[in-house]
Amino acid sequence: KQTQRLDKILAHVGIGTRSELKRLAKEGAIIVNGAKVKDSGMQVNPDTDVITVNGETVLYREFVYLMMNKPQGVVSATEDNRDRTVVDLLDAAYAPFEVFPVGRLDKDTEGFLLLTNDGKLAHNLLSPRKHVPKTYFAKVEWEVTETDRESFSLGVTLDDGYETLPGNLRILEGGSESEGVHAEIELTIMEGKFHQVKRMFQAIGKKVVYLKRISMGPIALDPSLALGQVRELSKEELVALQ
Ligand code: URA
Repeated sequence: KQTQRLDKILAHVGIGTRSELKRLAKEGAIIVNGAKVKDSGMQVNPDTDVITVNGETVLYREFVYLMMNKPQGVVSATEDNRDRTVVDLLDAAYAPFEVFPVGRLDKDTEGFLLLTNDGKLAHNLLSPRKHVPKTYFAKVEWEVTETDRESFSLGVTLDDGYETLPGNLRILEGGSESEGVHAEIELTIMEGKFHQVKRMFQAIGKKVVYLKRISMGPIALDPSLALGQVRELSKEELVALQ
């Protein structure tokens, strides 16, 4: 099938820069299908050729899929002039993969963020036509009622006139203005407009004071992930996403 430059593949899995790989090849440390490699820029087929470096077999993979529990204070981008980004939180071993966040969470939103370098999967998940459900946990000022649940179930009109699709609101705690108790809710939406959850509450005259995404499509945020932590998706999770 497809061949690629050996040094590119090895750099991709974090084994070295192109110049380091040149040196490793010179030292005879890189072996492809049993033969020492002289030119680290040779073409290989990563699916069928057996590559070893310093005696260790290289497991090549093109794509990585990461689940992050995003903390507040970092932006969902790969670069930013002012703020730390979600990519800055990743282990250096992931740098060669050049992952990016699939969609955005606001700087002050926590929770499930998927990062990948699989552009096709990202495109599918973000496509408005696919209606991938996203569920958020929120604390809201103050009361949230059955009437609000009904409003969301019909869709609401945002400040720019956009009419949302129906959202599914679950009231966990009704809240109380007089007692200063925030309502706690879960809201599932099928779209991802800018600040959508905050603006849906704004549309019914209420204010989100804490927001966390708890699931995306078939995958829930792993409760064992602390804020800022990352793990790779399991095989089952990845299959479920596709
Ligand atoms: N809706 C918002 O308002 N903010 C987010 O970060 C995600 C959804």
